This record gives sequence, structure tokens and C-alpha cells, in this order.
Amino acid sequence: MNSVQNNIGGDFAKLLDSGMKKKNTYDVVIGESCIICGQCVDVCTAGALEMNNDNINYNPKKCTRCGLCAEACPVGAIKINRQN
Ligand code: SF4
Ligand code: SF4
Repeated sequence: MNSVQNNIGGDFAKLLDSGMKKKNTYDVVIGESCIICGQCVDVCTAGALEMNNDNINYNPKKCTRCGLCAEACPVGAIKINRQN
């Protein structure tokens, strides 16, 4: 009985893991037109964006997909994928 329970738990964990990877991969994409102005970092209340050595780092675990960063970007460099 224990092994059956473990297998169910394992399959569920794999399913959950694959779902999270899929979601996390496609939430916010910052394109090459980014000029590192930092406005998206300023508007992200979730703390999902940080400026670091002339790069914008995105943390999908904090992102709520609110879309504020894309609206704030002056060059339209941010795409939000809302399908996941
Ligand atoms: S979609 Fe919202 S939470 Fe996610 S990075 Fe942009 S501003 Fe932050
Ligand atoms: S607001 Fe747009 S241009 Fe400015 S740092 Fe963010 S992604 Fe880059």
C-alpha cells in the first residue's frame, strides 16, 4: 500500500513540476529592444523584476502576470503570455 501511495505522490509531483516549468518559462519575455531604463522594475510591485549589471532579471515565482511592466515599457520590449 505504501508503494502505491508513493507512486501516486510521485506522479502528482511530476505533473505539478512540469506544469510549473511550463508556466514559469512563458510568463514574461523581455525582448532585445530593451534599453535597460528600469521603468518595469519600478512598477513591479511583486518584486519579480530586478536590475542587475545592465540586465533585467525576471523571477517567475514572484510574478503575478499583472501586465504593469509591459504597460510601463517605453519601447514595448515586454510580452506577457497569459495562456498558462
Ligand atoms: S507582470 Fe506584473 S508581477 Fe510580473 S514582472 Fe510584470 S509587473 Fe511584475
Ligand atoms: S521598461 Fe522596457 S526598456 Fe525599460 S528596462 Fe524594462 S523592458 Fe527594458
